[in-house]
Amino acid sequence: MPGRILVVDDIPANTRLLEAKLSGEYFEVITATSGLQALEIARAEAPDIVLLDVMMPGMDGFEVCKRLKADPQTTHIPVVMVTALSDPSDRVRGLEAGADDFLTKPVRDVAMFARVRSLLRLKMVMDEWRLRQQTSSELGIVPPTATPEHESYHQARILICEASAIETANLQKVLALDSHLLQIAATVSESQRLAATGEHDLVIVDLALGDDEALRLCSHLRSQEKTRQTPILLIAEEDQTAKLAKSLDLGVNDYLMQPVDRNELLARVRTQIRRRRFQDRLRSSYVQSLSMALTDQLTGLYNRNYLMTHLSGLMQRTLASGKAMALAMIDVDNFKQVNDTHGHAVGDEVLAELAQRMTHYTRNFDTVARFGGEEFVVVMPDTTAALAMLVAERLRRRVADVQIRLKSGTALSITISIGVAVSRHQADRAEELLSRADRALYAAKRQGRNRVMLASDVTAGTDTRAANTAGLSERVEKPGAKSEFT
Ligand code: GH3
Ligand code: MG
Ligand code: MG
Repeated sequence: MPGRILVVDDIPANTRLLEAKLSGEYFEVITATSGLQALEIARAEAPDIVLLDVMMPGMDGFEVCKRLKADPQTTHIPVVMVTALSDPSDRVRGLEAGADDFLTKPVRDVAMFARVRSLLRLKMVMDEWRLRQQTSSELGIVPPTATPEHESYHQARILICEASAIETANLQKVLALDSHLLQIAATVSESQRLAATGEHDLVIVDLALGDDEALRLCSHLRSQEKTRQTPILLIAEEDQTAKLAKSLDLGVNDYLMQPVDRNELLARVRTQIRRRRFQDRLRSSYVQSLSMALTDQLTGLYNRNYLMTHLSGLMQRTLASGKAMALAMIDVDNFKQVNDTHGHAVGDEVLAELAQRMTHYTRNFDTVARFGGEEFVVVMPDTTAALAMLVAERLRRRVADVQIRLKSGTALSITISIGVAVSRHQADRAEELLSRADRALYAAKRQGRNRVMLASDVTAGTDTRAANTAGLSERVEKPGAKSEFT
């Protein structure tokens, strides 16, 4: 796992030592010897992780961390505090300053590499989401990005996997301070059963649960679809360093050492919950922005953007396999009158109902899109002219023959005109197909509306003579439908 690490320490011997250790594991290392320099480099170089000494003259590590986290340009960079103090209150102070983790001097290699790798993994996931968020923002539809620190950490659903009744009682007492909703499992199988719902915001696992049982539980949680993303917080004894390193490799997010300090427990749980909730928010806003970018809010149909993006590819694939590609362009007749007579809101109601009928009376593999105000497009892959005319004519009748009943109770008679174009030639472009269908639609309007017209299947695109489609006459001689126009 490649990563660029900024090591900050006012004593050059310390930075050199960490640099040597990290370079040995193929990390790229940059160094800073003061708080101010660290802030400058963090902004300019965008490292993947900052290893930050706490005790420095001038600006100390806590202040540097606070400033890094307050700056939108560096807030997403994980910070690990490196401290000589083993006093838990300093650890908590670091976490409160926004530090993602801390290491105590002398820094143990296993702990450091495990921490660094685990944070790098997290950062890669977060970077991916931030990138998607950015793409969505460019479409102009996503609320401004917040940070994990803005998420609430109260009332989380937490599963505690703990065999000892005394430890359980301790954890319960502390976690009650944040009004969490707790579930307790005393065995691995019970833990697996309860976790299977995937509804927990955090799982706390005590390594004391059993020799290798606890690790197997963590690996199980990571292997299941529903719990793959659930944060895991491990509780370990001082002498379990090797197992701890193993568990972090398995994907455990964070750990606490026995005896558990209550402030540290609260702080670490809060960090995990906030990250989890932040990630959930990114995911749902991404899904929402995607659907908003591709669909029309009024009708729920695909929008013009989507159609134009996908029509070319779909058409190329269809034509390349020797099949015909049909497209119908639909326009509501005299729609302006509907708005003028009944108001815009009724107009909207009519459009939504028409969209429903179009979806209902076309086939599953047809794509219906709202092309513009009261214009729609139906894309019909692998469809001959005869079949496309059948589909279009059926649609025309379902609109003309069945009045639209408004919420107010009033019934409205609406008609639509349809232009159909078909392509068989691999060289045909989507734009040509669309404009042929559009010209056929225009002809349908000129000939009195409420009818279906077929554009001739010629590549030149200038000829709109009707195709002489065998077997079609029976369908198109029905009132309103014409297969020929000039
Ligand atoms: P034609 O038969 O020639 O198509 O006549 P028309 O009145 O339908 O044609 P025109 O294109 O002049 O009018 C389209 C109208 O559709 C004008 C516009 O106000 C209305 N419109 C477009 N989008 C919407 C919408 O989202 N909601 C509503 N209610 N009306 C819309
Ligand atoms: Mg119209
Ligand atoms: Mg129109």
